[in-house]
Amino acid sequence: MSEHGITPGLVCGHHHLYSALARGMPAPPKTPSKFTEILEQVWWRLDTALDLEMLEWSAKLGALEALEAGCTAIVDHHESPNAIEGSLSVIADACAEVGVRVVCAYGVTDRHGPEGAAAGLAENDRFLSEGGRGMVGLHAAFTCEPGTIDAAIALADKHDVGVHVHVAEGPVDAGQGAALARRSRPNWLLVHGVHLPDGIEFAGTLAHNPRSNMNNAVGYGHPSRFNSPVVLGTDGIGADMLDEFRLAFGKLREHNVEVAPDLPWMWLENGWQLVPEAQDDVVTWSYPSMTAWHLAYTPGVRPIDVIVDGKKLLEDGAATRVDGAEIRAKAAEQAARLFEKL
Ligand SMILES: [Zn+2]
Repeated sequence: MSEHGITPGLVCGHHHLYSALARGMPAPPKTPSKFTEILEQVWWRLDTALDLEMLEWSAKLGALEALEAGCTAIVDHHESPNAIEGSLSVIADACAEVGVRVVCAYGVTDRHGPEGAAAGLAENDRFLSEGGRGMVGLHAAFTCEPGTIDAAIALADKHDVGVHVHVAEGPVDAGQGAALARRSRPNWLLVHGVHLPDGIEFAGTLAHNPRSNMNNAVGYGHPSRFNSPVVLGTDGIGADMLDEFRLAFGKLREHNVEVAPDLPWMWLENGWQLVPEAQDDVVTWSYPSMTAWHLAYTPGVRPIDVIVDGKKLLEDGAATRVDGAEIRAKAAEQAARLFEKL
């Protein structure tokens, strides 16, 4: 047996590349004690402060870290309320420079009034009209007016793409999230679904983000209770999909000690339904047996080489098309600017 196992490129089924600079950010004035306070005091403060230059380096850093983890395709969900126009192209260009595939979406919301919602819809429309690869993003039903949701669905239909939306992540979105899930189509991506009722029928794919759900203490969503396909996402906490797989398995076992890792491994593989070309990418790993039972109990497996679209973009663990050290240095500069603004 070769000492190096090989897999296709892994897929992160739900990411926020704008959050790559957030690590180490100044603590909020008051420690958030529940999910809505985490949104208000951490993420909605952060996204409001973003400009396009910060976003560019945040996305490059996130894409670099994905490549270094053998993840060659990212399904991204973006929000930068004070830098909306052009933001999806900034993310797409940053990923292209590193060489990672990305499916972009702008998370439309009425958090910043009807003008903010209109600008978000316009950015999705602009990006998709110009041939960008994407979906129509909605933040979550509980932060959107009914008319905004209708407009996003109509826009997705116009471009023949799905809607990418957070659904019932916390109790605050349980009712409206379930109502939106019932309207979903097969090409939609519903994220979290933790507080969806048992037995609900919905047509889209469900993105399960075990680490994020633990971090926000929103509860365990039991993703296998639905009939829909499940994919794994990180919700912005990096793009190490083998790590996320191990966490997904750990959460499953916590609730059912008889379950095998084949189930969360299938969730990982379902990512290829979202970005089929990643199956043609080739990742050579530091470990020989790239199977569910091995990887469930083997932390620290790293890619050695990554080939995307026939080109070697990672060699001996280092990016070839971009200077990883430069991206980290520039991203640190932008993080300092961002923290200053906060
Ligand atoms: Zn998310």
